[in-house]
Amino acid sequence: MPIQLLSPQLANQIAAGEVVERPASVVKELLENSLDAGANRIEVEIEKGGHKRILIRDNGKGIAKDELQLALSRHATSKIVTLDDLEHIMSLGFRGEALASISSVSRLTLTSRPESQSEAWQAYCEGREMAVTIQPAAHPKGTTIDVADLFYNTPARRKFLRTEKTEFQHIEEVIKRIALSNPQASFLLKHNGKMVKRYVADKQGSLASRIAAVLGQKFIENAVQVKVDYQGISLTAWLGNEVMLRSSNDLQFSFVNGRSMRDKLIMHAIRQAYESVWGIVEQPAFVVYMTIDPKDVDVNVHPAKHEVRFQQGRLVHDFICKSVCDALQEISEPEASEPNS
Ligand code: ADP
Ligand code: MG
Repeated sequence: MPIQLLSPQLANQIAAGEVVERPASVVKELLENSLDAGANRIEVEIEKGGHKRILIRDNGKGIAKDELQLALSRHATSKIVTLDDLEHIMSLGFRGEALASISSVSRLTLTSRPESQSEAWQAYCEGREMAVTIQPAAHPKGTTIDVADLFYNTPARRKFLRTEKTEFQHIEEVIKRIALSNPQASFLLKHNGKMVKRYVADKQGSLASRIAAVLGQKFIENAVQVKVDYQGISLTAWLGNEVMLRSSNDLQFSFVNGRSMRDKLIMHAIRQAYESVWGIVEQPAFVVYMTIDPKDVDVNVHPAKHEVRFQQGRLVHDFICKSVCDALQEISEPEASEPNS
C-alpha cells in the first residue's frame, strides 16, 4: 500500500483508543469539561452502565453556536494557545481531543447556550460519518452532552465492555474522585432513571464535608488532618488511622492541582511514611491534595492524564513522605492520641 494520510474520522477513532477506554472515561472527560467551564451543578444520567447512554448536563459557561462544530473537531481547544500556556496549565483539559474522540465512536448530541445567546443550539453527529448537523433547541444556560451507543461502530472495542454493573462501578469511582476534588460543585448521578448519588456543595465548599459525604462520616472522624506548605508546594491530607489499616485500596485518593492521580511517586511516598511509622501496612486509607506551581509539573505525560512528572521528583517525594510521617507519628504516640482537626 502506498503511504496515505489517515482520514480524519479514522485518526479520531485511533485517538479514541487512548482517551476513551470505557464509559467511565467518557464520564471523566465530560465532567472535566463541565468543571473547566465553571459549572457548579452537574447531573450525570447513565443508562445500562453507559453502554446505552451517558448524559451530562451542566450550568457552565456554554458553547457559542458558531463554535459547536469546532468543539467537536480534533485539536480544537479554548484552553491553550501556546506552549507557554501548557506549561502554566490550570484547566483540566488542554488536548482538544475528547469530544472529537468520543463523537467518532458514538452518536453524540451537544446542546448548549452561553449566557450571551438568547437561544440554544444543538449539534448532532454520528460516529463514522462525522457529518455535524446543527439546529435550534431549548436549553438553559450551560451544556448538555448526550453520548448514545458508545462503540457502536468499533466492534472490537465494544467487545471489551464489561457487564453493566462493572461499567457502572467504574463510573461511580470517577464521580467519587471528581466530587472529592471539587467540593464547590454539586453532583447528581442517576442510573436507569433512578437517583444513585447526590453530593451537594455546602456554602463554604468545604473539603471536609465533601469527604464525609463521599467516604463516610466515620472516615473523617477517625482520620488525622495534615496541612503543610513547603517551597511553594502545599499538602492537605486526611490520613486514615490504625482503625482503617485493613481497608482496601478503594480508599486511596490523591490529587495534584485538582487532578485525580494514581501517581507512583506519590503512592510510594505515602506508603513509605505509613511503613516507617506502623510497619507494613496493607492498604492505608487516605485522601491527599497537593498543589504545586504548574510549571514544576508536567501533566502531558499520559493521554488520560493519570500520571504526572515532577520537575523535582525527589523533593516532592520526600516532602510528602515527611509530612505524612510527622502526622502519623503524632497520632501513634499514646500521649498525643487526640487527632487535631
Ligand atoms: P479540551 O477539554 O482539551 O479543550 P475537548 O474536546 O474536551 O478538549 O473540548 C473541546 C472544547 O469544547 C473545549 O476547549 C471547550 O471550549 C468546549 N467545551 C467542551 N465541553 C464543554 C462544556 N461542558 N461547557 C463549555 N464548553 C465546553
Ligand atoms: Mg476536555
